[in-house]
This record gives sequence, C-alpha cells and structure tokens, in this order.
Amino acid sequence: MIDPHLNLEPDDLHNRELAANVHPFDWQNPTPEGRYNLVVLGGGTAGLVAAAGAAGLGARVALVERHLLGGDCLNVGCVPSKAIIRSAHAAHAVASAPAFGIRVTGSIEVDFASVMERMRGIRAGISPHDSARRFSEELGIDVFFGEARFTGADALEVEGAVLRFSKAVIATGARAATPPIPGLPEAGFLTNHNVFNLTEQPKRLAVIGGGPIGCELAQTFARLGTEVTLVETADMFLQREDRDAAEVLKSSMERDGVVVRLSTSLNRVQVAGSEKLLFLTTPAGEETLTVDQILVGVGRTPNIEGLDLEAAGVAHDRSGVKIDDFLRTTNRRIFASGDVCLPYKFTHTADATSRAVIQNALFPGPKKRLSKIVIPWCTYTDPEIAHVGLYPQQAESEGVPVDTWLVAMADVDRAITDGETEGFLKVHCKKGTDTILGATIVGGHAGDLISEITTAMVAGMGLGSFSGVIHPYPTRAEIIRKAADAYNRTKLTPTAATLLKKWFRFKRKH
Ligand SMILES: Cc1cc2nc3c(=O)[nH]c(=O)nc-3n(C[C@H](O)[C@H](O)[C@H](O)COP(=O)(O)OP(=O)(O)OC[C@H]3O[C@@H](n4cnc5c(N)ncnc54)[C@H](O)[C@@H]3O)c2cc1C
Repeated sequence: MIDPHLNLEPDDLHNRELAANVHPFDWQNPTPEGRYNLVVLGGGTAGLVAAAGAAGLGARVALVERHLLGGDCLNVGCVPSKAIIRSAHAAHAVASAPAFGIRVTGSIEVDFASVMERMRGIRAGISPHDSARRFSEELGIDVFFGEARFTGADALEVEGAVLRFSKAVIATGARAATPPIPGLPEAGFLTNHNVFNLTEQPKRLAVIGGGPIGCELAQTFARLGTEVTLVETADMFLQREDRDAAEVLKSSMERDGVVVRLSTSLNRVQVAGSEKLLFLTTPAGEETLTVDQILVGVGRTPNIEGLDLEAAGVAHDRSGVKIDDFLRTTNRRIFASGDVCLPYKFTHTADATSRAVIQNALFPGPKKRLSKIVIPWCTYTDPEIAHVGLYPQQAESEGVPVDTWLVAMADVDRAITDGETEGFLKVHCKKGTDTILGATIVGGHAGDLISEITTAMVAGMGLGSFSGVIHPYPTRAEIIRKAADAYNRTKLTPTAATLLKKWFRFKRKH
C-alpha cells in the first residue's frame, strides 16, 4: 500500500514502483556525523543536481526531501504533463487524418484511464534515476526524508537529527498558488498537485489562469474530449510571451474546442449537486459557468514556510528566497537554486543554477553569475511557443534599439509539406548589427529549434553566420537560415548593388 501522505493515486503497480524509488516506505534516515561540505534542502531538480554534482566531485553531501525525490518535474510537472500531451497529440492526429488523405472509419475513442495509466508507467519508468537508493548507494549521499528547518546559521534539523554544514543550498521549489476565491476551497479544485491522479475524465473543465501550465493542460484536456473553458483575467493569455505568438496559439486552441474567456474574472464558486457553478465577470457582464472540475493554474508560491529562514539569517519576500548574482543568500554559507528563488521556473533553469551553485559554493576562483546564464523556454502547446533572451520592449527599455527579422512558417517548405504553416520566427538583433538579443519561435518543434539560436547566443555567433550553415532540406530549421539571409540581404549597400550590376553587364558582353 502507498502511504496516503504521498498523494499518489491510484494505488497501482506504477505508483508503487514510483513510491518505492522516490520515497521508499522502509527508508531509515542515516545518522549524521560531523560537518557536511554541502547540505541540500529539497530533492527536486535543483536539489538533485546540486547533490549529485557536489558528491561526484568528492564532497560530503546530505540531501533532505520531505515528499518525493524528483520534485515537481518528475512527479507532478514536466514528465506527467508531457506524457499526456503526447496522448492528446495522438488523438488530434487521428482526428485530423482526413486532411492528409487518410480515411478513419468508425468512431475515435479516447480511453482516458489508459492515457493516465500510460503516463504513470512512464513516470515510474524514469524514477530510478531520481531514486533514494541511487543517490544513497551509487552517489554516496546521505539521504534524509523529512521536513528541513534551520536551527542556526550553519545547522538544520530534520526528523530530530541535526545536520551541520559548511555550505547549504535551499532548493525547496514552489507550489501552485491558490487564489482567495470565495467557495473555491469548499467546491474542491485541481492543481498540478492532484490533476495527474485523475482516472476519470472530467466532462466539463474550467481552467483558471492562462499561464504555460493552464494553456498546456487546457488544450490537452480539450483534445482528449473534455469541454474546456479557459478563464483569464488579462486581455490575453501567456502574459510574458510575444503577443503575436499568443494570438496564433489562441486560434489553435479555439479550433481544438477550448472556449477562451479573456478579461474575465472568477468571483465565486458554488456547489450544486455534483456540479460546480462559477460566477464570472466578463466584458459582457455577469455570467455563470457550470463545470464538473476546476483546474487552478494562477502562478507559483515559493516553498519557504517552515524553513525558519530567520534562524539562518536568510532574507526572503513573497517571491521567495532573496539571492545575489552569485546565487548567494544573505547568509554567505547558504545559496539558493531553482523555483524557490528564480522568476524563471523551469527544470533546465533549476539545473543550470545548481551547477553554478556547486562552482560558487564549493570552490575558490571565478564565480558563475546568474545574469550571464542564457535561458530558453518553451510552452508545449500545439503550436509550441519557444523563446530565448530579450523581447524587443525589454531591450528598448534597457536603451538598446532593436531590429527584428521575421520569417513566417508558411515560407518554410517542410512546414508546408507537414500542413503546419501557422507560426513564425522572430529574431531580435541589436539595431544595425547581427548580434542576437533574443528570439521567439512559434510552430511545431519550436522547443527543439530554439536551441540552435541559444547556442549561437552563448557562442557569440551573429545571425548573419547562419547563412553559411548548411541545414538539411527540407527541415523546419531552415527558418533560421532564412532569417539570416534576410539580414545579409540588407548588407548589400546601394554602391555594392550598383557595382554588381555593372559586373554582370560586363560579363554578358565578354
Ligand atoms: C504542470 C507543470 C509542468 C511543467 N512543465 C515543465 C516543462 O515542460 N519544462 C520545464 O523546464 N519546466 C516545467 N515545469 C516547471 C518545473 O517542474 C520546475 O521548474 C522544476 O521542478 C523546479 O525544480 P526545483 O528543484 O526548483 O523545485 P521542485 O521540483 O519543486 O522541488 C523542490 C523539492 O523540495 C521539497 N521541499 C520543499 N520544502 C521542503 C522542506 N522544508 N524540507 C525538505 N524538502 C522540502 C519538495 O517536496 C520538492 O520535492 C512544469 C511545472 C508544472 C507544475
């Protein structure tokens, strides 16, 4: 049986395998001896990367996790969401097969229970990598299960044991923020914490909040056959993203059947039998929406309560643990990494910042700066929206004028043959140069394509250089070379153009 405190439902073989790896029921915490080089609070991506990296270099490391090793990413975030997104893609591919000349006879049925079981199997299959035994037996880390709480500037307590440290890293992550909406707690609602426990498909689902998590799950549930309404208070979802990109996604989600309610706020929830009534204020007035389930995705709250940060002299505010550019907190022994301290809450950022913490906390010499890390990201909707670096308005607010190079997916042969011509690439360069400041890609595989631009930014390679990079034909990546060609064409000055014309006129005569 799975410990009910682990919030892993249903109690099946997959979840038992997961629990056995990431929180074994018979785990005995070790007895701490002496001072650790590094104590890591939290066993999500940030904590695991910091612990494994430091131990791999020979440091004595303790890792404390109160719930499930692997944190949000493995258990209630990236892995389960991407697994069900894949099923939704499959459903969409079958539904859109006639457009490709494929006749589907008979009805298409989504077996929601099987979709979720597949997800649980994938999650359990990945879990040995984050397992307590791997970290303890293979990597030699002292793994403690329990709630970590600082008792001083260089010590913390877990399950009655005192862990003393030279350095510590706070990697306790974040959780779904819950808005103070009257009636919502009584009605009950889903967040990323429990939505992946579902085994029965909601017929009607309200998704509150149009951030990346809300958009990904709204489209996924819609493609799996749920009637989805997405409620967003702002006048467009994906607030941080390029507006044109969000518009492309809005059209796609509406085609999938998602009812997108923008500039709409949820005021109150009421239960009526098995249904939930949502009282909304919309631009057209007051409305009531009736659903079976509510999924809340309105932002993330850092996990800092109960850490007794005051005892350690670690400053914090509503957005989490305060850090400097070297990921150091106000206690010079203590660093922070991942969602608990960063505005960019992604697995790869948690990974990158923990690698920097290992260098900055454990070694003398040059330190890694947060401000130098180039962070790409992707929202895994269809089409995907990927971004890296600055948006033009950010650059301009920093006094850096921008040229934007725009190529439509409709100009890329592979996108045309695939029937996926929606979307675009925008590359933002420092005005008059090919220095890349940022880029947004909207379209299939955008999350993979953005890496090419990220690599260029890290390597200091200008946009123009992509013209000399051969891209296999036909691939979506040609969109980047096309942007480079567009840039290089502007380098042809009127004088050069006149000279070239004269040259070819001469060659025609001789
Ligand atoms: C639905 C969803 C989908 C996502 N998809 C993606 C994606 O596709 N790509 C991507 O890059 N990111 C994605 N993310 C974000 C990603 O999951 C997080 O950015 C990442 O997990 C952050 O890692 P972390 O280690 O900082 O925090 P967490 O993963 O939250 O880990 C923190 C750990 O600390 C533990 N902890 C907290 N307090 C204490 C304490 N006092 N004592 C001991 N332990 C404690 C917690 O139990 C937790 O295990 C997604 C998130 C969600 C919710």
